[in-house]
Amino acid sequence: MVDMKKSALALLLAAAAALASCSPGGKDAAAVRPLRETADAAVSPEATPEGTVHVIEPPEETEALAPEVKLVPYDGIVEHLFFHTPIAYTEEAFDGDAQQEGFDKYMVTVSEYKKILQSLYDKNYIIVNMNDVWNEYTDEKGEPYMKRETLMLPEGKKPIILSYDDISYYEYMMGNGFPYRLILGRDGELWSYGKDPAGNSVVSQDLDCVTLLDKFIKEHPDFSLGGAKGLICLTGYNGILGYRTQTDSGDSSPEFEERRQKEIARVRPIVERLKETGWYFASHSWGHINLNTASFAKAKNDADRWMAEVGSLIGPTKLMVYPFGSRLDGGDVTKTGEAFRYYHSLGFRVFASVGVESYSKIKSDISAVICDRMHADGLTLRNERERYMKFYDAADVWDSARALDGAKYTRSW
Ligand SMILES: [Zn+2]
Repeated sequence: MVDMKKSALALLLAAAAALASCSPGGKDAAAVRPLRETADAAVSPEATPEGTVHVIEPPEETEALAPEVKLVPYDGIVEHLFFHTPIAYTEEAFDGDAQQEGFDKYMVTVSEYKKILQSLYDKNYIIVNMNDVWNEYTDEKGEPYMKRETLMLPEGKKPIILSYDDISYYEYMMGNGFPYRLILGRDGELWSYGKDPAGNSVVSQDLDCVTLLDKFIKEHPDFSLGGAKGLICLTGYNGILGYRTQTDSGDSSPEFEERRQKEIARVRPIVERLKETGWYFASHSWGHINLNTASFAKAKNDADRWMAEVGSLIGPTKLMVYPFGSRLDGGDVTKTGEAFRYYHSLGFRVFASVGVESYSKIKSDISAVICDRMHADGLTLRNERERYMKFYDAADVWDSARALDGAKYTRSW
C-alpha cells in the first residue's frame, strides 16, 4: 500500500509540476500540492505488492455485454436546471466579506452539487444535449422553423438539460473559494487548478462542476444520453474558462495583445477537450449586460464583441442564455424585436431565461425557441424546497457550512 501511494504521488507530483510550469502559477511549481483527494485509479498506475508497477488494463468494450436497453419515444417536458461554479472552499466564500451574500444566493457548494447530481440520478433523470431537443427545419415554402424533436430515451428515464453559467473563473472569484481555471492534464483529462485557503496550489477533479460531472458520468454512464454533458454559458469580459482572452479597450499595447494571444493558445485545447467529452457552449453575452433594458446599439455591440472574442474560440452555437434571465427587447415572449432579430441573424435559435418551471415555447413569427431554466442555488435551497423536490430535497442537500442562518439569511423549511 505504501509503495502504491508513493508511486502514485510521484506521478501526480510530476504531472502537476508539468502543469504548473506552463501556467502563470508556474513559479509556484515547488509548492504544488496536488490531488490530496484525487489519487484515484483513473490517473494512477497500480502497484503490485512487490512494488512493480503495472498499468490497469482498460475494460473491454462493454457495449456488446451490456443488457439491451429499450429506448422509448419521449415528447414530454425536458427539465432544465442551471448552476454557477460551485463553492469549493466555504471558509473563503463565507468569510464575512461583501461578496458572501451573493455567493450564498447564487451558488451551491461542492458538497451540495455532488448531492444534487446523485439525487438527479437516483430520480431517474438522464442528461440530454440541448442541441438535440430543438432543431431547425425548412417548410414547403422554404421558410425555416424550429421543431421539438421526439427524444428516444431508455425506458423509465426523464430528460434533463444541465447548464452552467459564467464558467469564467472571474477575477473577483480568485481567493474567494473557487478554482482558478480548468487545465488539461498530461493524462489528457480535464482538471481544475487553484489554491486552497492556505495558499497551496491544488490540481483536482473534486472541486469543480465540470470535472465532478465528468467523474460522475464515468461512474454512472446511464446518467447521460449519448455522452451528453453540460451546457457551458460563457461571457467574454474576463475571458473564458479562467484564461484572460478578452480585449481591453484601455490597453492596445503589443504586450497586452501578445499576452492575450498566449492565453488564447492555452485555452484552445481545453475547449477542444470539453467538446470531445460531451460539453457544449452558449453565449451568455460578452459583458453580462441586462439585455432587457439595453438599447439596440448596446445589444448589438455586445453580441458582435462576443462573436469576435468568444464565438471565435468555441465555434458556432445556436444557444443564447440571457444574463440575469433578462429577455431581449424588453421581452421576447409576445414580441420579436429588432435586437432579437439581430441575434437570430448571428445564428442563435434557442433563447433561455430563468423561471419557476422548465417552460418552452416555439415562436410562430420567427424560427426560434424561447425557454426558461430553473436555478439550483442558495436562493432556491432556502426558499423553494417544494418546487425543487422533483430534483432533490433541500433539507438533504443543504451544506451546514453556509452558516449564514439568522434574521438576514432565512430558510423556509
Ligand atoms: Zn450569469
